[in-house]
Amino acid sequence: KAPTGPTIEELANGILTGDRTLLARSITLIESNAEHHFRKAQQLLQSVLSQTGKSIRIGITGVPGAGKSTFIEAFGTYLCDLGLKVAVLAVDPSSSITGGSILGDKTRMEQLARNPRAFIRPSPSGGKLGGVHRKTRETMLLCEAAGFDVILVETVGVGQSEVIVRDMVDFFMLLVLTGAGDELQGMKKGIMELADGVFVNKADGSNMPYAQKTKEEYNRILHFLQPATKGWQTKAYTCSALHGQGINHVWATIKEFEETTKQSGVFEDRRRKQSKEWVYSMIVDHLETSFFYHPLVKEMLPKIENEVIAGNRTVTSAVEELFQMYNQSVR
Ligand code: GDP
Repeated sequence: KAPTGPTIEELANGILTGDRTLLARSITLIESNAEHHFRKAQQLLQSVLSQTGKSIRIGITGVPGAGKSTFIEAFGTYLCDLGLKVAVLAVDPSSSITGGSILGDKTRMEQLARNPRAFIRPSPSGGKLGGVHRKTRETMLLCEAAGFDVILVETVGVGQSEVIVRDMVDFFMLLVLTGAGDELQGMKKGIMELADGVFVNKADGSNMPYAQKTKEEYNRILHFLQPATKGWQTKAYTCSALHGQGINHVWATIKEFEETTKQSGVFEDRRRKQSKEWVYSMIVDHLETSFFYHPLVKEMLPKIENEVIAGNRTVTSAVEELFQMYNQSVR
């Protein structure tokens, strides 16, 4: 094996023929923070780009304990049994903040991980959330080129990461628990407005009547919210990930969503908007990196910070000075 690894052409061919090992190596390239890997990864993406976009992209969120991994295991297996190929990706906001991981636990989705039709990739670690975003999006494209029919992108319901995942998928689903009545009024509203479906999980055993009641409560509130997708009324449903109940209904709902939005043009419209947004968010990422990693900025920033903190400098004039310096040096 050459020290540089497979060529771009070898990787691209590997991806297009569904070679797992080469797909995994390509994703590693995408996830690398090394400059020369970045270039190679971009060339690779470019070469398979025409083969991307054919999957249905599904985002899944929910608080820890809502049953996301149990659900993905059941749902993913169900889809594989239908003859579909399923890729599971994750956006773990914790890894970018603490270096640790909420989603990274290796014992999750063991059964699905062994399924030859499934491919599971944990969240890229390190770096800013923006970087995780780019890497996950690009990984999604590679998986599409490798022939995966369904891409599941999982994230924990803790804020910013939901918006990021919403922006990269077609259908966004929220997994919730029963008895969340009080919370419903407040904090979940923001997340509910992003969702195309709310699934009350653990609708089994003695929890069944509560799940039914919770579903009705969600439906009542959803009725008054702006729908996440034009022409689609977001509804609440019950399911039991553990017992595989209602899983077929989740898929039926997503298929109906796909059909409805493809017919109305909303599906393609959203994808176009997402690509456009992606350009802008990447520009912002680049500007940020270019600015904060600039040697002059790095040198001056602590000094200027101290002046502002000491009350000797207005924020505006301090920032102005930094930008003047930066602009002159990049011109
Ligand atoms: P995550 O943190 O959202 O990924 O949640 P997990 O999938 O790890 O599930 C948390 C706990 O809830 C585990 O003990 C699961 O076995 C349990 N659980 C998940 N789905 C169901 C379900 O449909 N019914 C019941 N009774 N328990 C469930």
